[in-house]
Amino acid sequence: MSTELLEVLDVAVIGAGASGVGVGMALKDFGVERFAILEREFIGASFERWPKEMRFITPSFTSDQFGFLDYNAVGLRASPAFILKKEHPSGKEYAGYLRRVATQFDLPVWEQIAVESVTPIKQAEGFEIETSKGVIQALFVIWAAGEFQYPNLLPFPGAEFCRHSSRVESWKEVAGDDFIVIGGGESGADAAIHLAEAGKHVYLLDADPPWEMNESDPSLTLSPFTRGRINEAFKSGNIEFIARAEVLGVGQNGSRYRVFCNDNYKFDTPEPPILATGFMGFRFGRTAGWPRRAVIMPGSAHTLRNEPFTSAPRA
Ligand SMILES: Cc1cc2nc3c(=O)[nH]c(=O)nc-3n(C[C@H](O)[C@H](O)[C@H](O)COP(=O)(O)OP(=O)(O)OC[C@H]3O[C@@H](n4cnc5c(N)ncnc54)[C@H](O)[C@@H]3O)c2cc1C
Repeated sequence: MSTELLEVLDVAVIGAGASGVGVGMALKDFGVERFAILEREFIGASFERWPKEMRFITPSFTSDQFGFLDYNAVGLRASPAFILKKEHPSGKEYAGYLRRVATQFDLPVWEQIAVESVTPIKQAEGFEIETSKGVIQALFVIWAAGEFQYPNLLPFPGAEFCRHSSRVESWKEVAGDDFIVIGGGESGADAAIHLAEAGKHVYLLDADPPWEMNESDPSLTLSPFTRGRINEAFKSGNIEFIARAEVLGVGQNGSRYRVFCNDNYKFDTPEPPILATGFMGFRFGRTAGWPRRAVIMPGSAHTLRNEPFTSAPRA
């Protein structure tokens, strides 16, 4: 890391995803001149990483005439429905939309510059931002680095044997026929739908299943877009829903994996279980250790990992 002072700004926005690009448009509209969006990769990097088959669940619609914003727009005069001509864009398409907006609105995005720390300046206003290219000072810092690139990889002991849903490039191209997906929210349901469509068998497990909830908050329940798709996939017989299954840990024996749940339920699978249990966001200075939501198992993770399988009940 270089300690050279690169720039002094009024506002530094960290991350050029949906939030960072949207905030950039707003800063321009408010007439802020000395600002930059610092991006460690390139505009829309998280969306570029979505599994190929994943689509926006919220629909895009050009409703400008009525003065409403397109649901998926990051700002005024920037409707993805108009630009992409798609109701449910893919991650790649949406990344293209963000790049187009950044160009059209001439946003100052500095790519390939990773933020490593943010510290208040002593005895003066503002912050010192340490980056991979040097130090930047800014009066205000807007954190827009998202969650997608910071998945929660250790929600329970043995989770290291699993594959996180955000690390899958394409559900159709995943090898194997028999899957367990842990977590039945949007990411897990989306994984199960695409695996089932590819002719694979899926157990979809959740302790508190979103598919049973009747809430208006979309972060608690499944969107209408996903409910419709899951109903269709269910007809194929390739998806089985396991409700009230709280996963306590995962073990491996040879080439098989075992998922340990409450009430002594165990599920065996030949493929690494898919983790769709969420994200944790960026933590400065975080290097190792269990996240806040770790489930404490009787015995250590090491004991669990080496436990030989005794029987293989499926449910
Ligand atoms: C299955 C699924 C479906 C979804 N569907 C929808 C939907 O239909 N509608 C909807 O509105 N939302 C949807 N979302 C949520 C949406 O993807 C996120 O809310 C959105 O991506 C968040 O945007 P963001 O800009 O905060 O983060 P991101 O898009 O992740 O952008 C963060 C950026 O910050 C950069 N960055 C990270 N760390 C640093 C660092 N240290 N220094 C510099 N740069 C850094 C990254 O490279 C990245 O480009 C969905 C999510 C999932 C998982």
